[in-house]
Amino acid sequence: MTEFGFDTLQIHAGARPDPATGARQTPIYQTTAYVFRDADHAAALFNLQEVGYIYSRLTNPTIAVLQERVATLEGGAGAVCCSSGHAAQIMALFPLMTPGDNVVVSTRLYGGSITQFSHTIKRFGWSAAFVDFDDIDAVKAAADENTKAIFCESISNPGGYLTDIPAVAAVADELGIPLIVDNTLASPYLCKPIEMGATLVVHSLTKYLTGNGTVTGGVVVDSGNFDWSASDKFPSLSQPEPAYHGLKFHETFGNLAFTFHGIAIGLRDLGMTLNPQAAHYTLMGIETLSLRMQRHVENAEKVAAWLEADPRVDYVTYAGLPSSPYAARKAALYPKGAGALFTFAVKGGYEACVKLVDSVEIFSHVANLGDTRSLIIHSASTTHRQLTLEQQEAAGAGPSVVRLSIGIENVDDLIRDLDQALATATA
Ligand SMILES: *Cc1c(COP(=O)(O)O)cnc(C)c1O
Repeated sequence: MTEFGFDTLQIHAGARPDPATGARQTPIYQTTAYVFRDADHAAALFNLQEVGYIYSRLTNPTIAVLQERVATLEGGAGAVCCSSGHAAQIMALFPLMTPGDNVVVSTRLYGGSITQFSHTIKRFGWSAAFVDFDDIDAVKAAADENTKAIFCESISNPGGYLTDIPAVAAVADELGIPLIVDNTLASPYLCKPIEMGATLVVHSLTKYLTGNGTVTGGVVVDSGNFDWSASDKFPSLSQPEPAYHGLKFHETFGNLAFTFHGIAIGLRDLGMTLNPQAAHYTLMGIETLSLRMQRHVENAEKVAAWLEADPRVDYVTYAGLPSSPYAARKAALYPKGAGALFTFAVKGGYEACVKLVDSVEIFSHVANLGDTRSLIIHSASTTHRQLTLEQQEAAGAGPSVVRLSIGIENVDDLIRDLDQALATATA
């Protein structure tokens, strides 16, 4: 369906009237298992000789529609849904990494991702080297012979900075390793990492794709463009896989190797499966993705400009402001907008920030983003609390900044709310 426009694909890709009933909307297949036609059919499914449904930890028809929808919107060959954005990050790395391997990652990431990469993955024998991705030479210098991937966010949390994906992708190409882009903050409406050279895209479905704060979910999209057999770096994909009776995934499934591995081994053995009800909510959300993103961006541009002109505000990080150091990159790579998440520094520091989040009325003080509702959080005392001061500053989440996720309400109401809260906070 790639010849259709984005607004058409966000409604139709992957979906077809239900063959059993003609139901126009995708049914929620709330079932754990699927009846085999006969013993031969069962054997063919287990051998991956025939594609079909066995058990919902692996595949489910509602989730299959969502996978095809997101893969199409991102321009990928296939996708695997999983239980959260964090699960998607592990699922993306899992086929690539063995104990002793590492990944080069940006210092500017979602706070939970910094924790996942700096501590938790060590339990698998993996490690991460953190670098400033605006310094492309540093990204290259951080890689060694055990580096199996490069990981960054397109629009990065919490400052809303924009990554030069083509430049990072060129480094990954040179090193012969995949670039993984977390595209959560941009959504495929504002950024298509695969078109800019990324191999894999991960999302927290929890955010803009569902869009209304009802679901926890994730997805890994594979471009289908990486040659896993070009080197001996990725034996799980290029060599006989002992976890699947010696199947060679790349040889057998070609550009769907990563996707099949993600289902047949990742979901089978790690079990980080999305549930069909959640997939339904996300499918509903995606139907209006472009409309929401347009309004998110329009509102964010107005709120950021208003804050920048306010004497109670020190600075605003929004990359969509003409004054932003990212303005040229935005025009070149993110022409539809710089998203709707950014930080601003309140004169009065930590104390004023805490007062501000306690004084807003329309904005909700929550640890989430990408909701229709406008959200606010003081990262240093919450999402980035586990980090050192140095890590907080490097991530753009220092003690004197507040993070906003601008919703799709009337923008004048949002500005009035911030105005009264700033008055209280800086009184
Ligand atoms: C929320 C988020 C995640 C984690 O997603 P969950 O669904 O909460 O596990 C990862 N990356 C980014 C950029 C996020 O905003």
